[in-house]
Amino acid sequence: MGKNIYIGFSIDMDSAFPSSINIIKNKEPSNKFINFLYQDNKENFKNGLIFEEGMNNIIKFFFTNNYMSGATWLINEANYDTSILYPDIIKKLYEYVEKYNCAIGLHTHFEADMFKMDKETLEIEKKWKTFPAVPGVTTGGYFEVSNKEMWYNEGLINPKKRIEECIFKMTNKIYNINCFKSGSHILNYDIISSIIDTNFIVDCSMVYETKRVLKLNDTENFTMYNNEKIKFDDGPFYINNKILEIPECANLGLLKNKIKLLKNKKNIYLLLQLHPYQCIKSLGENNLLNNILKYINLIRKNYDNTNIKFVNMLEMKNIIDKNNDYHHKDINDVIKLI
Ligand SMILES: [Zn+2]
Repeated sequence: MGKNIYIGFSIDMDSAFPSSINIIKNKEPSNKFINFLYQDNKENFKNGLIFEEGMNNIIKFFFTNNYMSGATWLINEANYDTSILYPDIIKKLYEYVEKYNCAIGLHTHFEADMFKMDKETLEIEKKWKTFPAVPGVTTGGYFEVSNKEMWYNEGLINPKKRIEECIFKMTNKIYNINCFKSGSHILNYDIISSIIDTNFIVDCSMVYETKRVLKLNDTENFTMYNNEKIKFDDGPFYINNKILEIPECANLGLLKNKIKLLKNKKNIYLLLQLHPYQCIKSLGENNLLNNILKYINLIRKNYDNTNIKFVNMLEMKNIIDKNNDYHHKDINDVIKLI
């Protein structure tokens, strides 16, 4: 009996800048950065075009390839006021939830400028300003996310509520946001326990066997995240029996090495990350959608088509539960691994 490979797409809806001042004019955006946009920043408007083009391309790509059932739309509400500026996009995504069994989730960057204001952090950011910025989220600095009181409400409680309210307003349907992903793969004790407290049931903030180290200067490096101990062979796991962690698979090479090994052994659950800004036409060959196709073609070479299923994160959780394809970890042990 062949085993199945379940593929999902976790789409981080970052850099959701409005492409036109007209989008902002009649709304009441709450975030500070919108005021900043009002003033002069043309680059950000350009980014808005990128967001809209990227979203359209991803949607088109999913329809063309019959992948829509694999989509989990992770809205970065805290940093971009998506429910205020793009309610029509959220409405459309909800239609896909109903018609094609996608899921909608929350994506928050806890390292965002809007959450940190202590002096110490500002100093660190100044020192490390050469790091890549997340447009509209960070200014290119980086720091440990330790100030829970700064992000708990505005990073988890309120944005979750705002998306749910937006869906209700636009469609008259009640939808609970249950999926979460932390920006830049940052996790710590406070973040994990907070997403459990706020009733998220599935998370994809980790990345199998991957780390990212940024060069600070000639002698100093800074590790953004290190998930090398999160093993692909181990698969998804529950943390404190409460939330299911399905790590993303970022590394095509890793998959190449593992795929034959696992072929007859057990089901495989793959989450592939996308950002709209990685999916624009001007990127040509570097368009992430090309890479996604490569990934999936590689899988098709190794698996019978009937064993390949495209499922969103929530559906993936249901299947993992049903097949008992998980193990358990205590939050304190998880912290030692990341
Ligand atoms: Zn992100």
